[in-house]
Amino acid sequence: MALRDKWVSRYLEMTKKSEALFRRAAQSIPGGVNYPLRYLAPHPLYASRAEGCYFWDVDGNRYVDFWMGHFALIMGHAYRKVVEAAKEQLELAAHLGLEHEWEILLAEQVKKMVRSVEQVRFANSGTEANMYAVRAVRTYTGRKEIGKLEGCWHGGYDALHKAVSYPFDAPSSAGLPEEVTGLTVVLPFNDVDGAVKIIRSRRLAAVFVELVPSQGAFHPADAEFVKALREVCDETGALLVFDEVITGFRLSPGGAQELYGVYPDLTIFGKILGGGFMPMGAFGGRSEIMEHLDQTKYTKPSERSFHGGTYAGNPLAARCGYTLLRELESGEVQERLNRLGEYARKKLGEAVERSGLKAYVTGIGSLLGLQFTPSPPRSPRDTLSGMDRELAEALYYYMLVNGVYYISPHVPHFGLSAPHTEEHVDRLAELVEEFGRIAGRERRY
Ligand code: PMP
Repeated sequence: MALRDKWVSRYLEMTKKSEALFRRAAQSIPGGVNYPLRYLAPHPLYASRAEGCYFWDVDGNRYVDFWMGHFALIMGHAYRKVVEAAKEQLELAAHLGLEHEWEILLAEQVKKMVRSVEQVRFANSGTEANMYAVRAVRTYTGRKEIGKLEGCWHGGYDALHKAVSYPFDAPSSAGLPEEVTGLTVVLPFNDVDGAVKIIRSRRLAAVFVELVPSQGAFHPADAEFVKALREVCDETGALLVFDEVITGFRLSPGGAQELYGVYPDLTIFGKILGGGFMPMGAFGGRSEIMEHLDQTKYTKPSERSFHGGTYAGNPLAARCGYTLLRELESGEVQERLNRLGEYARKKLGEAVERSGLKAYVTGIGSLLGLQFTPSPPRSPRDTLSGMDRELAEALYYYMLVNGVYYISPHVPHFGLSAPHTEEHVDRLAELVEEFGRIAGRERRY
């Protein structure tokens, strides 16, 4: 019997209603879900409500949530100020297809918080924002090729959906012929010499990078690596684009770039930007680049970098985003969460050591990872190639039956939010320790 089996049996017993809903879902929705990431064998959880750092499933089980809506809900579920703002805006005008003041307020707020942003455009998701940013960097530079880092995730747009799944040299999705992804050049993460050599050998329009890749269980880019990317981009005339969809406004009011002290030409935002629960994305940066979207300057479609959309910058999402960013502007929330993150890494590290587990604790600020790899991981490649998937999966079910939710079954990583306390973190560490002891007894590794 595999280590995970008894916890899977318990999971089945406690989630009968979720099982029934999944059966129904699979009749109408391919695979029963709208994002494979949310699938869990033999069936995912169906939630009924959420508040603070908890959610309840349809069977009435309560979970401490370390996933927090794809890390978007930095203030927790149902954060009152944003909920109230949304309610008021719903009554006034949720969607107009007209201009309104909220989009200006949000743009001004983003500029105020993120030093490298001079102008910004809003989209409906991180994927969409990345897609339009690819177009903008090509327009500005007149170059075709795009660099991206191994294992970094920028959403499902063709040009960036490459070297995402491991092994990185296989297509990361069907339906992506070489003609479509051939202009994307893959670079090794946290490998200065390797990445610099490739960038120097091409004429890249831009390098897109996540500074704290979720697929690397939040092991961050080395400061030296980020600095080297900035330098080689300047040297070769490529733009540097930071995808701060997760890290933006979270690691500090100005995001990861403020922490590193290295500034990109463009930044991609999402998640927190929409107030945590409204679909939202944005790309912004130097005016010199962003002005290529300006329809008053570039009147011919063939000369303008097009961006737009039915819900782009809609008042409901813009107001929710603005309301939340105002809460995050002082940096107090982030400081507390970063301290809690430090505490969590320390506690998890002690738990790992005491239990005899072979694991590494990774992360930065309020983002954490636990990695069952043979040596300390430094990149998504190390994580995805080295992870003991069986052990990670067993931990996942063990946590679920003990009322703790995170993702993913194969790459354990966690996000802290304002309602989390040291007690929640202590419980997480305690469970990791207990799991380690059980795993040690029942399995040789
Ligand atoms: N970039 C990063 C760093 C992300 O984490 C994500 C989403 N997980 C995206 C882009 C894509 O955003 P969305 O899911 O809103 O399209």
